[in-house]
Amino acid sequence: MKDDVFDKYRTAGTLASRILKDGAKEIRVGVSYLELVESIETRVKDEGAALAFPLNLSLNEDAAHDTAAPGDERVFRKGDVAKLDLGVQIDGYIADTATTVDLGNNSLLLDASSEALEAAIRAVKPGVNAGALGAAVQKEIESRGYRPIANLTGHGLGQYLQHGPPTIPNIGTGGGAVIEEGMVFAIEPFATTGCGRVGEKSRMEIYSQISDRPVRIPAGRTILEKIRDRQGLPFSRRWLGERKLDLALPALVRSGTLHAYPVLSDIAGSLVSQHEHTLIVTGDGCIVTTR
Ligand code: MN
Ligand code: MN
Repeated sequence: MKDDVFDKYRTAGTLASRILKDGAKEIRVGVSYLELVESIETRVKDEGAALAFPLNLSLNEDAAHDTAAPGDERVFRKGDVAKLDLGVQIDGYIADTATTVDLGNNSLLLDASSEALEAAIRAVKPGVNAGALGAAVQKEIESRGYRPIANLTGHGLGQYLQHGPPTIPNIGTGGGAVIEEGMVFAIEPFATTGCGRVGEKSRMEIYSQISDRPVRIPAGRTILEKIRDRQGLPFSRRWLGERKLDLALPALVRSGTLHAYPVLSDIAGSLVSQHEHTLIVTGDGCIVTTR
């Protein structure tokens, strides 16, 4: 890896870590989702960096892909388990990191995903199979009486690439990609009191552009204009700033111009925790960029 690329990964990681920790401290009963999300996203831009994706704020059985909607009136409530997942990028080099805030009595559930993440990080070195990292995750979570979410995984990162190879499973799959020096990837264990698989809700707040084909409807063209600087990275409905543009989103998804990311949830009434770090594989282990 070139020195300047390494430096961008490290700078993005340090920044993401600090902003995520500060943001998590602001979560308490009565705080507005919208105010929290906007204040964290603004902080990234104020530091001269950019967002790799909208700040994900997913509550309780929702594992991923929720964020504040335009005019969102939701506030944190007693008992909530809140996942904050932040992506910071510098020239497209991404730091992807997540933590969970507990407003109830779920410290063991939070320990399950954070200890799973640490165990997997300790196992990273060249020559190890991704499946072995998944086995480390699964063991830590199941030993505390919870389930890992089997159909959510860690993933490789590249310039302006949020989900590339290798896939890092959250269960011991056996085999999988062989870890190599210089790889950059995120490990993100999810622990749940539910069934251990997520499904899609109808709620959609996050989208990304997947095709450059010309768009006929004017509102659709306005959306593509507004998100041009994303270079294919995800954006939020909230970022469009004009509610009337929302109407064009389903048409752009149907035509294959945009990809939608529905909220991913375990069964109703379950609780999900998540912890995530981004790392660079070295000759004998790894450097975690998002500490
Ligand atoms: Mn993430
Ligand atoms: Mn990730």
